[in-house]
Amino acid sequence: MTELLLNHLGGQWIAGTGAGTTLHDPVLGDALVRVDSTGLNLPAHFERVRAQGGAALRAMSYRERAGLLKAIVAVLQANRDAYDAISTANSGTVKNDSAVDIDGAIYTVGVYAKLGETLGDARVLADGDIAPLAKGGAFGSRHVQVPTRGLALCINAFNFPSWGLWEKAAPALLSGVPVVVKPATATAWLTQRMVQDVIEAGVLPAGALNVVCGSSAGLLDALQPFDLLSFTGSADTAALLRRHPAVAERSVRVNIEADSVNSGLLMPGATPGSASFELLVKEVAREMTQKSGQKCTAIRRVLVPEALYGAAAEAIGARLAKVTVGNPRNASVRMGALVSRAQFEAVQAGIAQLQSVAETLHDGRGAALIDADPAVAACVAPVLLGTRDPDAHGLLHVTEVFGPVATLMPYRDLDHARALVARGEGSLACSLYGEDDDTAADALAATALDLAALHGRVHVVTPAVAALHTGHGNVMPQSLHGGPGRAGGGEELGGLRALNFHHRRAAVQAAPAVLSRLTPAA
Ligand code: NAP
Repeated sequence: MTELLLNHLGGQWIAGTGAGTTLHDPVLGDALVRVDSTGLNLPAHFERVRAQGGAALRAMSYRERAGLLKAIVAVLQANRDAYDAISTANSGTVKNDSAVDIDGAIYTVGVYAKLGETLGDARVLADGDIAPLAKGGAFGSRHVQVPTRGLALCINAFNFPSWGLWEKAAPALLSGVPVVVKPATATAWLTQRMVQDVIEAGVLPAGALNVVCGSSAGLLDALQPFDLLSFTGSADTAALLRRHPAVAERSVRVNIEADSVNSGLLMPGATPGSASFELLVKEVAREMTQKSGQKCTAIRRVLVPEALYGAAAEAIGARLAKVTVGNPRNASVRMGALVSRAQFEAVQAGIAQLQSVAETLHDGRGAALIDADPAVAACVAPVLLGTRDPDAHGLLHVTEVFGPVATLMPYRDLDHARALVARGEGSLACSLYGEDDDTAADALAATALDLAALHGRVHVVTPAVAALHTGHGNVMPQSLHGGPGRAGGGEELGGLRALNFHHRRAAVQAAPAVLSRLTPAA
């Protein structure tokens, strides 16, 4: 029998009372560990988390809590090798892809530690200036932001067990809000181990960081009015959560990061082999294959001027043809597995669905896997699809196949391209590929502003930043993550903006003598 991972709530390690769900190696098929949340008295545990963890965190200043984040970074760095091994075993990722998850997380916590220091010894945040409510300012109104008195329930998707945990936990802990993380079952091991390491290192007050592994049953029922729900996952699950009484009746504040059919757009004027053309080709191939395409931000739709459809198909296909797929333990493998055999089946079905309306421009699935049994391993090689008539096929604009899959689409002019992008109904990220001259910069800025209404982030790549840009799909803590419409309507990260979600804004109306004492900066 494999090890049963423990849950941690309110300072206690607690085993589920059921048989548990077994997590598997998606390449070898081996059983790894089990998770189980059966029998937990969640309302009682959550109450302790709020009382213990919340009170201890709120008693500290932002600077002190930034110190906690710094200590977490040290713990995670010290155990990095173990995380890499768990990633290989449970997520089937090659080293570079594991690093996106693990190092991306450590970097994010580090950024919040630094941002927290800038807030100094305050315990509340000022929000705007005093607004006079009486003649001469003898009575006025000042807005303050105070940490919410509840807990943050963070429910994560399977593709980022490390980054997904810490990009949510870091702003919450810095705000003074205790965290209960519920990782996706398929890859819960890495999340659980990181929480365990941080708890065992004794760097956080009891109750500040908690983990529930296994079924989500009962988690939302235990939420109270001042709690927060931060969800990352599919639009279908998000729709369920939005209807739950905790959200619909008890006004639990909710942030949703859902799926998204992101696009990459090569600006008009490019030619085969021009710098912007090459930048788009390189980025599309990388986006399709990094983490086997299991990134919510990955480019799914590739828009090029119609004269370049053939050249782009050829150039992207040529790059994809070099991608070796199989067992991530083999040094010659560039792309590992999807997270599970269930995802393998879902991705194969998704490709078939898109193929019903699109042509296949590159299909790597004919090549043999390296060091992996195709009957067992959840490995899918990259597939580039295409259509010469993108207006005719709505399916291609709203279907997210969560694997190494993208669709190439030609556009007539920039208005047509923007209309096609808009058919994604709101996405996390869009990238534009153009040149460096002033005319190009004018067009890029105007297009970025136009597309900003449909996206959480617009990423503009030109030759001048070819070696500097952070990548279409990489989520940087300094920039907003989230997107309108089908992307969930959420907002995460964005530097200190992330703290807004974890604070309650209130107006205090009083005489200047009182208002000036509310915050150190007043
Ligand atoms: P999912 O099936 O929606 O699951 C997400 C999380 O919700 C898991 O932890 C899951 O737990 C939990 N869950 C399922 N049913 C629930 C319920 N009734 N109540 C409470 N929690 C529940 O999504 P996934 O398959 O893990 O993730 C893939 C999707 O996530 C993709 O569509 C991707 O685009 C999206 N994603 C979005 C972002 C973003 O930032 N926008 C980032 C990453 C991924 P179990 O695993 O135990 O079922």
